[in-house]
Amino acid sequence: MYIVFEGIDGCGKSTQIELLKEKLPNVVVTKEPGGTDFGVKARELLLHSEIRSAKAELLLFLADRAEHYTEVVEPNLKNTLISDRGFLSGIAYAMSSNFDLNFLIELNKFTLNNNLPDKIVLFEITEDELINRVGQREQDKIESRGFDYLLNIQKNMKKVADIMNLDYLLIDATDSIENIHSKIIEYISN
Ligand code: ADP
Repeated sequence: MYIVFEGIDGCGKSTQIELLKEKLPNVVVTKEPGGTDFGVKARELLLHSEIRSAKAELLLFLADRAEHYTEVVEPNLKNTLISDRGFLSGIAYAMSSNFDLNFLIELNKFTLNNNLPDKIVLFEITEDELINRVGQREQDKIESRGFDYLLNIQKNMKKVADIMNLDYLLIDATDSIENIHSKIIEYISN
């Protein structure tokens, strides 16, 4: 089973993935970008270098996704595979560069050999809580685009999940860590 945790930075994905690892020691955990050797280099370029072309940025994310699919997702489809981010983030970020949505969906399906995640845990955070959490830590290039930008990405993620009719669990990121953990366990056990 391929499960993706989606949500903007600071919404609590890694906190919940760590808790799941303790509870379910057999899960395989990965992330995008950065879950492969190529991905580590792509992540470095994406988050810390100047890329002027939105197309170049998109294609680098997609290259990372295709490599991650071949190297990590496909070999683990029989395991419980949990990824910190995936194609939903990819589409949501690219939408802010005004690419056609159907084109983005097709490109992302192409990188995944048409195998979309079985389940998605989608975190939603309020503006106040986002400022409270992300404002306190060092920001990478994408985070530094500002809170309105990030909140717009968040809106896009839910919009795409609805348009694509995806199976997702919506998490109120301001809920307690324990409550969120219980909801996730229930969702992925079904
Ligand atoms: P992400 O992986 O989505 O960027 P993190 O798991 O790193 O988010 O969480 C960001 C910050 O918010 C961390 O300092 C973490 O301790 C805190 N945090 C995570 N979940 C909650 C929660 N439910 N309530 C309050 N703080 C939280």
